[in-house]
Amino acid sequence: MAQYRSSLLLPEDRLLKIRDDFIKEAQAGLRGENSSCLMMASMMDVLPNGEETGDFFAVDIGGTNFRVILVSLSESRGEVARFEMEDFAIPEEYFSCHADRLFDLLADSLVSFAKRHGFSGKKTAPVGFCFSFPVNQTAVDAGTMIKLTKKFDNEGFVGCDPVQMLQQAIQRFKAPFKVVALLNDSVGTLAGACYEDPNAKVGVILGTGTNACYVEQVAKIGTLAKGATSRPRMVVNTEWGNFTAASLPITQADREMDETTPNAGEYHFEKMVSGMYMGEVARRIILQLAEDAQLFGPSVPDELRVPWALSTPALSKIAEDDSWVLSGTAQILADDLHLPASRCTYSACSTVKEVCLMVSRRSAALVAACLAGLLRHIGRDGSHGGMQATTVAVDGGLFEHFDAYRGFLRDYLDLLLTPEVSAMVQLKRIRDASSMGSAYLAAAVTASPE
Ligand code: BGC
Ligand code: MG
Repeated sequence: MAQYRSSLLLPEDRLLKIRDDFIKEAQAGLRGENSSCLMMASMMDVLPNGEETGDFFAVDIGGTNFRVILVSLSESRGEVARFEMEDFAIPEEYFSCHADRLFDLLADSLVSFAKRHGFSGKKTAPVGFCFSFPVNQTAVDAGTMIKLTKKFDNEGFVGCDPVQMLQQAIQRFKAPFKVVALLNDSVGTLAGACYEDPNAKVGVILGTGTNACYVEQVAKIGTLAKGATSRPRMVVNTEWGNFTAASLPITQADREMDETTPNAGEYHFEKMVSGMYMGEVARRIILQLAEDAQLFGPSVPDELRVPWALSTPALSKIAEDDSWVLSGTAQILADDLHLPASRCTYSACSTVKEVCLMVSRRSAALVAACLAGLLRHIGRDGSHGGMQATTVAVDGGLFEHFDAYRGFLRDYLDLLLTPEVSAMVQLKRIRDASSMGSAYLAAAVTASPE
């Protein structure tokens, strides 16, 4: 256990090193040099300002569900006259089917959603497409898919233009929609926040995967073609999920899990941080402890060996368990891992809880370190003098549903920023931000064509 404490609970100096390494990687990426952070220009140089009007749809995919929404923006500034939303589970086979089928599913769902909500299809409706993968964007409504992440392992994606793919699928249904904006979920989140908060400068996703984007000066974006925009600022998608540096605390459990993922060898930061992986990392550590330290008695329960059996929602419940003799933890071990109750002693449960807490803290600490780096890079950590209020807009299930995690993240930010700066940095949970932001951006793009 001592070994895990020292590898998972990161002291301040280590976190500062990670922060600085992240800044180096980010700045190299921004200059267009080889870097683990792609720092991609989002081509998003207009942010919604609350003056857009009309009906806008958004399709949002990239985690465990996908979502379709409709937003009607009325004449009175910033007012949402109507909001409809439906979530669809992604059937298991769609994580590995051909891309065309997945796009058909999206188009089909959009069309039937629109019908259910009374759209007759006389007028073409603009659609914002929130696509939570690394895409090299060449325009607000065009880009090339670089790779798949998380659980997705489909053929026919890499190298394609997601906008064309979705538009073609929509045409197969002969439906009157035009995909006018393509954006990463982090960008959608920032856009959603900007709509109501001018201090929003950074968007962060803490969900199935993780990512961050921020508002950058166009002159600093080395990867952007000259003349690509006449505006002074643009949102940059860091793709920090792929951040890597020698300072990152990658353990044996991380390495072994990595080998079982579709994108092995990549996205190490994401695999230490986000909801898809935290439960599995914890399960591997618990299994190791069962083998080395007889955590559940002399034999290792086979149930513990089932990959992905411990989900992150279960991990979060264990981490927050303050029930009498940890009966909540024993219950989860029985229900989710099918461990016999007789093996779940108080002492085993308390070790399991400690592991879940450490994995959660490590995630929050890593996010805080990179966030502190991003704030430093944009001159909002007080290091360049002058302090401005900064809103970091956050979306994603990990942040939304795991209360203790939000506390850890705040604690680590307080540790890494000075008290004056930390007081000026607000982490704002914006529910459904990425989908809402996509609809708003579709609106902004429609309202101000180049
Ligand atoms: C993707 C990002 C995305 C993040 C959160 C990562 O796996 O590469 O583009 O923003 O997940 O959904
Ligand atoms: Mg999402």
